[in-house]
Amino acid sequence: MSESKQKNIIREPWNRSVDDLLQELFTDREDGLSSAEVKKRQKKYGKNLLRETRRKSAWQIWLNQFESLIMLLLAVAAVVSFIFGEWMQGVAVIAVIFITVIIGFSTEIRAVRSMEALRELSRVSANVRRDGRVKQVLAEALVPGDIVVLDGGDIVTADLRLIEANKLQADEAALTGESLPVSKNIERAEEEAPLAERKNMLFKGTAVTRGSGAGVVVATGMNTELGKISALVEEAEEEMTPLEQRLDQLGRRLVWVTLGIAAVVAALGIFRGKAALLMIETAIALAVAAIPEGLPIVATIALARGMMRMAKRNVLINRLSSVEILGATSVIFTDKTGTLTENRMAVARLVTDPGEFNFNGSSNKTEEGNSVDLGNIGEGEKQTIHIALKVGVLCNNASLTDDEQGGVGDPLEIALLDAGRKLGLERDELLDEMPEAREEAFDPETKMMATFNQQNDDFLVAVKGAPEAVLKSCNTVFTADAEKNVGKAERRKWLDLNDRLAKEGLRILALAQKTEKSAGANPYEKLTLLGLVGLLDPPRDEVRDAIQLCRRAGIRIIMVTGDQTLTARNIAFRVGLMEKPEAEALEGKTLDDYENLSDEDKNRFLEAGVFSRVSPTQKLELITLHQENGAVVAMTGDGVNDALALKKADIGIAMGKRGTQVAREAADMILKDDAFSTIVTAVRYGRAIFTNIRKFVIFLLSGNVGEVLAVATASVIDLPLPVLPLQILFINLVLDVFPALALGIGEGDPGIMSNPPRDPEEPVLTGKHWLLLAGYGYVISLSILGALAIALFPLEMAPEKAITLSFLTLAFARLWHVFNMRDSDDPVFLNEITKNPYVWGAIALCRLLLLAAVYIPGLAEGLSVVRPGAAGWAVIIGMSLAPLIIIQVAKIAEDYLLETE
Ligand code: ATP
Repeated sequence: MSESKQKNIIREPWNRSVDDLLQELFTDREDGLSSAEVKKRQKKYGKNLLRETRRKSAWQIWLNQFESLIMLLLAVAAVVSFIFGEWMQGVAVIAVIFITVIIGFSTEIRAVRSMEALRELSRVSANVRRDGRVKQVLAEALVPGDIVVLDGGDIVTADLRLIEANKLQADEAALTGESLPVSKNIERAEEEAPLAERKNMLFKGTAVTRGSGAGVVVATGMNTELGKISALVEEAEEEMTPLEQRLDQLGRRLVWVTLGIAAVVAALGIFRGKAALLMIETAIALAVAAIPEGLPIVATIALARGMMRMAKRNVLINRLSSVEILGATSVIFTDKTGTLTENRMAVARLVTDPGEFNFNGSSNKTEEGNSVDLGNIGEGEKQTIHIALKVGVLCNNASLTDDEQGGVGDPLEIALLDAGRKLGLERDELLDEMPEAREEAFDPETKMMATFNQQNDDFLVAVKGAPEAVLKSCNTVFTADAEKNVGKAERRKWLDLNDRLAKEGLRILALAQKTEKSAGANPYEKLTLLGLVGLLDPPRDEVRDAIQLCRRAGIRIIMVTGDQTLTARNIAFRVGLMEKPEAEALEGKTLDDYENLSDEDKNRFLEAGVFSRVSPTQKLELITLHQENGAVVAMTGDGVNDALALKKADIGIAMGKRGTQVAREAADMILKDDAFSTIVTAVRYGRAIFTNIRKFVIFLLSGNVGEVLAVATASVIDLPLPVLPLQILFINLVLDVFPALALGIGEGDPGIMSNPPRDPEEPVLTGKHWLLLAGYGYVISLSILGALAIALFPLEMAPEKAITLSFLTLAFARLWHVFNMRDSDDPVFLNEITKNPYVWGAIALCRLLLLAAVYIPGLAEGLSVVRPGAAGWAVIIGMSLAPLIIIQVAKIAEDYLLETE
């Protein structure tokens, strides 16, 4: 950061009056900056970023290609060739170096760029006032003087001096270590006030936990408080995922094994009197043959490509490592509202003391037998309904709109406004009459919300919330005639009513009110109950199928909802989560004594499929319980308080529409459409990506083993080398990459969701895979040596031609080998591999390259290839197809044996 950029930052903004500050920053409280001014300031102050996460330049990626062991080996090979006067060979090795670099470069640059594009998708944004309107912009585009508008759940993206604060609280733990949220205001603070005392400031990197407000940006990027200490919190470097690490380790281990084998083979060859140059080069080629250099890049491309596909299906991945964990997910905790249900709520029922009003038009009988239809009910009843809904409309943060959504804000609150409008209650008009003086925001712990509205000299306290919570705070009930005290019997009556509505799957709220002299009074005591509202929120259509799919895939779905048991149970039954409506559903509070749970209790908890009235802290206990039981847990969340649970889960899933920024930041994955079925899609991709990676690892390594075995055997039994060093390089560095990539980006086996989840500890290659791989390699090596032997003995070909035959046999055998990557239980002809168009593309391309290697003069000489002739081609085709046929027959036999077992 240059000196000049530092200087322009306002000094001690907390000690200045708002007007002063706005003037100094040449900005307007209501209109914000103009776009033209923003552009100027962006030039002047730079981007609002902690560290410029610079795009990797193409040049850097190009240079990267040279920084590998393989390049070192090739360079040695070239030098050795020149020293021994083998000019042609030396030039050919250099050509191979360039071809390798070009292939590596073009694949890597694509992977890097798509990763960058993916990162863009999940960038944090901010709402700012610019050009007189509120706009959403990327946080990095903020400049000093911008007016940022904030709401509960937002992440603060620059240092702000508050100019409006409405019950604003912020969690500043990241900066000050204070774990409790701090209240904020717009009052001027002391000049010497330490960070934690600057109540009129919000700092980059902290989060708004509740309330709303607006602030003017006083510092961006490295000039923010966070920026000043950001040497400590340097933005995470590109991480290597556990999978990439494992592949990397695998590669390193293979290097040593290979070098060992190569040294032994070279020593043996020289001992038997073969040319030293040839043997050194053979050793180098063997090393190159066995090291799976293409692995990391193909793995990165497979991951990036998978993430792109997921993004198209509404899944944004925050952390690359999540992709592979996704595939191992064994338990999904899902919330109900909006994920399993549509979150398009409508008031269906309103129950007050004299009766029950059905909003769909028809009236229902209450237990007392009163039938109510708003058209012809008595004035008294009408009044109770009006009073109750008025509270629902006042204790509300939503607003109605004319568009398809019907309103902005919490759908539950929109539904209340809508019901109010049907009875002629308009929020704006009510607020004109009785302005809001205080709001106690909805808290998922207390499950209630309250507003204080000025009414003459008093305040009307309007409360809505979960029925049992509100009932506890009430001591009277409003009726058409008079207020009744709430005794035991009365409470029972309301709770029964609640149960009856909940059993229908309605989401229920209780409404209550009181009058207070002061706006500072406790809103949640001595209330008068007005009634219950039942809201209809139908399950999403596609959920049932998605749940079935998970069952088959061995994944457990557990509903964790803030709603009450009966409602939760009804919805769980309707979406197929529970077999019977009366199956066990547990309340969250049963988890509170988690430390002292008996094993028996723990088992009950592990088995339950529905948890109701769960608070964010209880979500943590649930995750721990299942993780200790060995599960890989995915958990959904949307609120500020869910951040911890999202982090604790192996896969934290935030909601793109409903979720707060805080939840989205904490999560590993974001669902753009909030839908449960999208989680299942993500798991499917996670599984497919992992098996794809496994497939190309087996494909590449088994081919390499075949080469090593063939070359090593030939040098031991005194045959000429079946493939020459340059030919091996050509196969490994040029030909093999294409089918491997095709395997890596395949769609995945359609039956992938019929298997149980993978054990998260399972390595990429298990013992079984190593055996398989060795077997494949052995068969391939036999075919190469077989081709060589046929050419040399019955056909009596010259060694050069014979080697051409074994080289081409190897090249084609490795190409056909891609079809051996099908699962044994898939059909032989119509399977995932044969249906993958990239595989056919790769084969066509490689065939062309091989023909070019034979028939294009310069290339043919460089690779020491001669024209094989008709008989030669017959041997090549026959011998290269042999491993395919043998392995396919073995697979069919394996499948048959497994089925008859
Ligand atoms: P889920 O976890 O499946 O999304 P939920 O939305 O019901 O379920 P919470 O948001 O924690 O979970 O709500 C818990 C309870 O609090 C609800 O059942 C409802 O009774 C009450 N409630 C929810 N939203 C509000 C609100 N805006 N105002 C007052 N009470 C509310």
